[in-house]
Amino acid sequence: MIATAGIETVIATLGGVFGLLIGSFLNVVVYRVPAGISIVAPPSACPKCGQHIRGYDNIPVLSWLVLRGKCRDCNAPISSRYPLVELATGLLFVVVAVRFWPTGSGTSLVAALVTLVAFLYLMAISVALALIDVDTHRLPNAITYPSYVVIGVLLAVASALTDDWGAFVRGVIGAAILGAVYLVLAIAVPGGMGLGDVKLAGVLGLALAYLGWGPLAVGAFGAFLVGGIFALVLMLLRRASWRGGIPFGPSMLIGAWIGVLVGSAVWTTYLATLGLA
Ligand SMILES: [Zn+2]
Repeated sequence: MIATAGIETVIATLGGVFGLLIGSFLNVVVYRVPAGISIVAPPSACPKCGQHIRGYDNIPVLSWLVLRGKCRDCNAPISSRYPLVELATGLLFVVVAVRFWPTGSGTSLVAALVTLVAFLYLMAISVALALIDVDTHRLPNAITYPSYVVIGVLLAVASALTDDWGAFVRGVIGAAILGAVYLVLAIAVPGGMGLGDVKLAGVLGLALAYLGWGPLAVGAFGAFLVGGIFALVLMLLRRASWRGGIPFGPSMLIGAWIGVLVGSAVWTTYLATLGLA
């Protein structure tokens, strides 16, 4: 029998390696989706000399280090952003694996695994959308629309397996609430939120409310807290004017993950402080 700590290390390591590989794919997604290029073909090539990237030069993080950040053929510099995105995705996948540790047995174990996959998917699109929003000030429908289907189906399956439809219904209500809040903000403050933010809000509302009202409240408030901090820091660095220029997607996504990871605990503490729980 393997010690529990041993199994945890194995699963965390697998999650990390999987995250590195997904991170490598996300670099392709972030570059190609806003440009309207297929994410499956043609294979990756050096933008300078056009040489296809060889399999052994496409190993996350390691290849960049071995090549010292230069194309093997023409010595064109390869941005350090690529290995950093791979590394970050690997670490974030470990965090998700630890948060959604599959426990139980039988159908409840399968449900836990399905939930883990749903939130790994959410993390993957979070990394991609945050980078695309910073690069292009857009949150492409090509990513947000399928996310409703992928996360919706996975969470519905998890609810069906555990016979707990309450969580799924709460998720759907959460999607409607958060989507409506952002729609009102988009209409009330022209030049503030965009429709991309509204569509993303629905996806985040679904995932957050599936976990509970606490995560939804903390995730929604977290977005504005993070957005305020970003705006303040960028203003102090004189990188952005008072009136916008800062994409809100990254703040929404970071806020949502605060809600996913610590939302329940923060909400319970908050209610206790108010003497409500
Ligand atoms: Zn090259």
